[in-house]
Amino acid sequence: MKTILVVNAGSSSVKFTLFFAADLHVAASGLVERIGLEGTRLVYRRPGQETIQRLVSIPDIGNAVELILPLLTDSQAGVIGSKEDIRAIGHRVVHGGEYISQPAMIDDRIKQIIRDCFDMAPLHNPQNLEGILACETGFPDIPQVAVFDTAFHATIPSKAYLYALPLRFCEEMKIRKYGFHGASHRYVSRKAAEWIGKPETDLRLITCHLGNGCSITAVSRGQSVDTSMGFTPLEGVPMGTRCGDIDPAILFYLMRQRGMNAEQLDILLNRESGLLGLAGTGSSDVRDLVQSMLTGHHQAETALRVFTYRIKKYIGAYLATLGGADAIVFTAGIGENSPLIREWICEGLTELGISIDPQLNQSVNGNLGEIQSAESRVLLLIVPTNEEAEIAIQTRELVTN
Ligand code: ADP
Repeated sequence: MKTILVVNAGSSSVKFTLFFAADLHVAASGLVERIGLEGTRLVYRRPGQETIQRLVSIPDIGNAVELILPLLTDSQAGVIGSKEDIRAIGHRVVHGGEYISQPAMIDDRIKQIIRDCFDMAPLHNPQNLEGILACETGFPDIPQVAVFDTAFHATIPSKAYLYALPLRFCEEMKIRKYGFHGASHRYVSRKAAEWIGKPETDLRLITCHLGNGCSITAVSRGQSVDTSMGFTPLEGVPMGTRCGDIDPAILFYLMRQRGMNAEQLDILLNRESGLLGLAGTGSSDVRDLVQSMLTGHHQAETALRVFTYRIKKYIGAYLATLGGADAIVFTAGIGENSPLIREWICEGLTELGISIDPQLNQSVNGNLGEIQSAESRVLLLIVPTNEEAEIAIQTRELVTN
């Protein structure tokens, strides 16, 4: 049976999912985590079977990729006969720069584009390329496809992607909005349209991907027309540890007042801010913050209030961008699983035709379904995301066309 292998090579982990090509059911999945650190671990799952876990000694991404094929074809634990059963490999690549609007068969040009974007995604693109190179070595005759996080946002018009800097900074240095989480926004838009029972081309959606990273996208007739993340995944709503939008003058104020340099500011804004920085409880996890709030920790409540208020503001902005919306979609760890966050985001929006049903908000939690009240003009949907499945869909489309 032909399969599609999806590989997501990150800074310290390689995740993989093998899908049956015919119906995109998962045959097996797994990850190698803590690569290059103490306690590197391989986790391997097959539906309905016991999870296999073992400690491995793996110094880099290439070695992690080498573990995958023997597992998938193992006489005991394997799910395919040989590597010939893999029709194609789809790779998640975070940044494709200006020129990528579609998934692409990997060749020298695509590899160069991934390299050209190293500086814009230093924590992702080098690792993504390492995963690709390792797969080319291990699976030399199998088509390799790159699916870019930025590609879905290639339809954003210049009025939305340009920053109001001198134009030459965009022309010469490519400083502009790119947007991220493309596979997720693409996947949940498609699923939402299926659920609503209308073609995507008839719908205006606001998709809220709220996980460790958070981004909101305005999707008009199946195309991204604006998104909250920007040149990097730091812009937009506050996140677990990232600050999201701030007044850029804060940076030179901190440089002058505290003598902070670029490296220190990078760490402050990307790793010490957001929910973690605001709440001051030592956790960026919404579950922990809700718990802290319930035990009287006021700062945790304030952090969650800032978070939900800022998401609400983006929803308001995108209602204006789209001229109204048919549905607002909640997805990813927080969006799918936190009734409180969804409730606070939707609070006070009845006049805009947005009203959540408290019971449905609880009972549908974690699953695909509608959570708006009877009087809501805008549908409110929870749609569990599946970035790997989206990469498999796009990979299959490319290799079968
Ligand atoms: P990633 O961006 O790493 O893929 P996820 O989409 O898995 O992240 O989201 C992770 C976040 O989801 C966690 O940090 C946590 O805040 C949040 N989360 C997960 N489950 C719940 C839950 N039941 N209630 C509230 N938040 C949750």
